[in-house]
Amino acid sequence: MTHVCDGCGATVDAAHLQERIRRLERATRFRPLHIHTLLLLETPPPEPASDFYAVAGQAEEQGQECQSFTEASAGGDLTSVVARAIHVSREGKPRDEVLAAIQRAGMFVAYARECPQSDAGASSPPSAGEVQKLLLRARFSYKPKHVVALGARLRATVEALKQAGFAAENCAGPDEGSFAQSLGEALRRTGIA
Ligand SMILES: [Zn+2]
Repeated sequence: MTHVCDGCGATVDAAHLQERIRRLERATRFRPLHIHTLLLLETPPPEPASDFYAVAGQAEEQGQECQSFTEASAGGDLTSVVARAIHVSREGKPRDEVLAAIQRAGMFVAYARECPQSDAGASSPPSAGEVQKLLLRARFSYKPKHVVALGARLRATVEALKQAGFAAENCAGPDEGSFAQSLGEALRRTGIA
C-alpha cells in the first residue's frame, strides 16, 4: 500500500508517514508558543536519532554523548553549539532539559524540507516548490520574528523569506568553517543571544 506524503509529495510507504508524524511530534514537544528565532536546517536526517529534537535516552543511559549531528558537524553536536550560543548550560543536563531551555529562550528548529531525502535528492538545495511550502509554514504556523538559516545551500531560501517580509539571514552550516562563530553572531543580531 502506498500513499502520497503531505510533507514531500513523494509516493511513500506507511513507515515514511509514521516517521513524519513522529518527527512532528518530537519537535512540537519543544516548540515555543511564540517563536522568536526560527533556526532553519536544510533536510531532516534519515536517521531519527540524529534529529535535532531526538531525545536520545538510550545513548545517554549508556553514558555516551548523544550522537545527534556529530557526523554532520565539525563543531560537535548541533544542540550543544546552539545551547552554548544562547547561553544555555548543557553541563550534566539530560538532553530534554537542554531542549526545554532552548524552547524557553524562544528558539525553534525546523527543516526547510519536511522529509529526509533519497541519496539522489540530497545533493540539491530545496527546490522552488519546497521553498514555497516552507513560506506557507513560516507565514501561517511558525510566525517567527527572525529566521537564521544554516548553510550556504539555503541562500536562495533566505532570499525568498526576505522577499516574503521575514527578517532572515544565512550563516555557516555545521559542515562549514567557523560554524559556531557564524551562528553565534547571527543569533546575537536577532537579539536571542
Ligand atoms: Zn515525505
